[in-house]
Amino acid sequence: MTPTPTSLPDTPPILAFGAHPDDIEFGCGGVIAQETRAGRGAHFVVCSRGEAATHGQPGQRVAEAQRAAALLRATIEFVELDGDSHLEVRAAHAITLAGVLRRVRPGIVLAPSPVENQHPDHSRLGRLVCDAARLARFGGVRELTAAPPHGIAQLLFYALTREAEPGNISPVLIDHSRPEIVAAWVAAMEAHASQTSARNYVEVQLTRARLHGLGAAVEYATALFPADPLVFTSLSGLGRGARGF
Ligand SMILES: [Zn+2]
Repeated sequence: MTPTPTSLPDTPPILAFGAHPDDIEFGCGGVIAQETRAGRGAHFVVCSRGEAATHGQPGQRVAEAQRAAALLRATIEFVELDGDSHLEVRAAHAITLAGVLRRVRPGIVLAPSPVENQHPDHSRLGRLVCDAARLARFGGVRELTAAPPHGIAQLLFYALTREAEPGNISPVLIDHSRPEIVAAWVAAMEAHASQTSARNYVEVQLTRARLHGLGAAVEYATALFPADPLVFTSLSGLGRGARGF
């Protein structure tokens, strides 16, 4: 039975995709921690068990991801596509992921950025999720008729490294500086002990969030990159610019 995220009434859940068991936590865990503590449901879809990694066995990787998701108050499921380091961009995978979108019916969707200078599974999954978001809306896709079409509100890309941040998209900076949020994020990253014991990935992500934060005069911020222009009905929803002018 696939777990179902719970949200405040009338607040659709966030759906986050990761190619490997630790991608979501390292790439956007601070944002997730903040949203779930505000009452929004979050669901993680992980598209491999990390079986090609140098460190950690698949069973351990799955257990680490489940613990990390619980720390972020998110539900989690694993979807088998081509396996770790073998992911290909194919229509069948986009349709599989579109089926997940129709079942979970999220507002905001998070996916790894499609920039190619990173693990190839990350950029390919970013492209697949983009395609899936389209297909989820189309009424006539015969493999998807089990659930009604669903249009998401926004697709936002997250980056796992500085090199994977799209240079052609202005980021939306999410300020998640509250100490309890940072602590929850760090705990979720540290749950991936098979990875953090090999390299100081936690410090890498905290430093990147600190740099984005310093640029926006806050403590910690995560940069998210909208796949499409964001639409607002009023200027008042815009937040502020990063620069202090
Ligand atoms: Zn990864």
